[in-house]
Amino acid sequence: MAGSKRDYYEVLGVGKETDQKEIKSAYRKLALKYHPDRSQEPDAEERFKEISEAYAVLSDPDKRRQYDQFGHAGIDGRYSQEDLFRGVDFEDLLRGFGFGGGFGGGGSIFEMFFGGGRGGRRGPSRGRDLRYDLEMTLEEVAKGVETSIEVPRMEACSTCGGTGAKPGTSPQTCDQCQGSGQVTRVQKTPFGQMMTSSTCPKCGGRGQTVSDPCSECRGSGRVRKTRRINVKVPAGVDSGQHLRLGGQGEASPDPGGESGDLYVFVNVRPHPLFKRADDDLLYEADLSITQAALGADLEVPTLDGMRARIKVPPGTQSGSVFRLKGKGIPRLHGFGGTGDMHVRVNVKTPATLTGRQRELLEELAVEFGEGERESKGTEGARGKEKPGEKKEKGLLGKIVDEVKGAVQ
Ligand SMILES: [Zn+2]
Ligand SMILES: [Zn+2]
Repeated sequence: MAGSKRDYYEVLGVGKETDQKEIKSAYRKLALKYHPDRSQEPDAEERFKEISEAYAVLSDPDKRRQYDQFGHAGIDGRYSQEDLFRGVDFEDLLRGFGFGGGFGGGGSIFEMFFGGGRGGRRGPSRGRDLRYDLEMTLEEVAKGVETSIEVPRMEACSTCGGTGAKPGTSPQTCDQCQGSGQVTRVQKTPFGQMMTSSTCPKCGGRGQTVSDPCSECRGSGRVRKTRRINVKVPAGVDSGQHLRLGGQGEASPDPGGESGDLYVFVNVRPHPLFKRADDDLLYEADLSITQAALGADLEVPTLDGMRARIKVPPGTQSGSVFRLKGKGIPRLHGFGGTGDMHVRVNVKTPATLTGRQRELLEELAVEFGEGERESKGTEGARGKEKPGEKKEKGLLGKIVDEVKGAVQ
């Protein structure tokens, strides 16, 4: 640490000969900029600690002499962190800055630097946020859903109203911390007064004590309950999106503290028939070779459980996509309409044929000018895995198809 520390004079932006008054004014100027309670700087707390340490050393004649002579080594080897800040009245220094009487009211600079948590800020802590994962079907997404979910959480005890005191009695202000939840210890040492702040051991930071604890919550003021909570999920949501239900998380462990929030994360289950792409749906439909060639009236399912009709024109190629306008998913928050449904048709070649069907197809083959296919062609269509000339024929047939597709 000592090696990476910046020079104290440099930290405060003052010269070696600067007098106490100027050091104080330099510190106050920087403190105003980096005080963690008001600074937007990302490293405010670190910087504030740095300038405060520099000030603690340079404002003390003994420590300053030590530092001037031996540098950081002369300070670090000789003083503990607490020793360093001892005797510096930071609250007095920062008075008039509008920090609410120091460090969030009640805390001290020591708490901030020596693990008082959250920069020494005080006040009842907030309850925990909770997460709930809600599974939804695509049908529910399309309509939006109003449902109730079961959420296990810590709630304020209804028997005592969250006070922790047995009904009929009331909690007392903690006499050790006078309700602040923090205790400040002042020690007289040969070097002067030393103050340390920490969470009050008597009330655990609650600021209140209960002599006759509530039997339901055993004095904690909170109980675990599984609560049914109504959730209204708007149409059009997608996996990964969430709703925030303010104040529906856990109750604060402290009296008067704010509850946390409940986050409901949406997870949309895959649909057996439809694939989703944003607000659009994709449906794959099979088309027979005759339907593709002659055209057909195709009936397809839609997400609302109904059916829609598509006019497949004669000569439709496999892979063609038809659009059903407005049969997709509504856009979230009604930002204009509903997505579409796309129907992709896939032409399926029959894998088995009756005798009559084969006969007709063979006739058709002749009609197409494909010649003597009677013996070879049919077997080729049936057993592609057979090697030799039949395979060649099959391959040729495929190429002819592709060329035809390209010409059209
Ligand atoms: Zn209770
Ligand atoms: Zn207390």
